[in-house]
Amino acid sequence: MHEYSQRIKSLPPYLFAQIDKKKREKLAQGIDLIDLGVGDPDLPTLKPVVEAMKRAVEKPEHHRYPSYEGMLSFRQAVVSWYKRRFGVELDPEKEVVALIGSKEGIAHFPLAFVNPGDVVLCPDPAYPVYKIGTLFAGGEPYFLPLKEENGFLPDFKSLPKDVLKRAKIIWVNYPNNPTSATATKEFYRELIDWARENNIIVASDLAYSEIYFGEERPPSILEIEGAKEVAIEFHSLSKTYNMTGWRIGMAVGNAQLVAGLGKVKTNVDSGQFQAIQEAAITALSLPEVEVQKIRDIYRERRQAMEKALKEAGLEVYPSNATFYLWVKVPKGYSSAEFVSLLLDKCGIVCTPGNGFGEAGEGYFRISLTVPTERLLEAVERIKGLKL
Ligand SMILES: *Cc1c(COP(=O)(O)O)cnc(C)c1O
Repeated sequence: MHEYSQRIKSLPPYLFAQIDKKKREKLAQGIDLIDLGVGDPDLPTLKPVVEAMKRAVEKPEHHRYPSYEGMLSFRQAVVSWYKRRFGVELDPEKEVVALIGSKEGIAHFPLAFVNPGDVVLCPDPAYPVYKIGTLFAGGEPYFLPLKEENGFLPDFKSLPKDVLKRAKIIWVNYPNNPTSATATKEFYRELIDWARENNIIVASDLAYSEIYFGEERPPSILEIEGAKEVAIEFHSLSKTYNMTGWRIGMAVGNAQLVAGLGKVKTNVDSGQFQAIQEAAITALSLPEVEVQKIRDIYRERRQAMEKALKEAGLEVYPSNATFYLWVKVPKGYSSAEFVSLLLDKCGIVCTPGNGFGEAGEGYFRISLTVPTERLLEAVERIKGLKL
């Protein structure tokens, strides 16, 4: 037996381990589980993308090592997409790098800019990778609680002076996982002004920009004037095109920030399979109606589920984006207790809010990644609890 490194030993306990264990037990008992726990689209990757991959995989030029920063044609497709979607101009040579899924980039980014003792401002609740990437780089995560009364936006202006002095990076993620909250351009404008004043890097995770249902499309932080001086944005094809298994994403923005991440990547990976990049170009070039079809499915599921949950006596945070519902735990239960109850009594798997950080206590997350009939079946079971 070998001893794990301090780095691994200091990782926070895996909060879902107990749920996973229970889930396996229920499945073994033959219980008809409804899994609303995972943030992974149930729909297949769009057909033209699969067809493009089939053609690309035949080409011997794709069988060799890819370029570290991604094929120029992929980076150009990213540039065109950002221009079309956000009106943001990017230089494909200096302001775009391909990622092996955005998780890879998010986890590696702090290695390029964080020294031991530096603080990284992480939202709470949040996607766990911001914190883990910080810890792996020897940095100190400092959590900014996202509170419902602030629309789940962080209050970055009231940081203690010593924390502010040591802060190197701030992470933001809107549309947000897990709360489903969105941010306005006004919020981003204040954040960028503050970051420029205090010389702090803004790292924006835009994984859910295309999962929206309102009139107003979620903005990119790079739409804000001056953002390119301090900001890098992480994006991915995973959620937009049902491509979580393909592992392709991108980081864009300030040239030095992109180059720093590139330096780390050059030393730990050798890029993504070019056939996947070629298929990704097809995805990024698809007409908007294709993505609209996916949005329509999630919209129907969200509306049906919101209504049904309200009838069951549960309080859902009202949102027009993401495929998550952020739901208040009924009085008298902790997040973990209520999620256990749902699993034991209803055969429903959900994620407890505190699994995303302490500030998530009092909530649980429902993923809309199963068909509407199954969602409504889940609510019928919840109604049986007579909350
Ligand atoms: C799904 C998700 C990602 C993207 O993951 P990939 O590695 O690109 O598949 C990034 N951030 C958040 C918040 C997510 O939920």
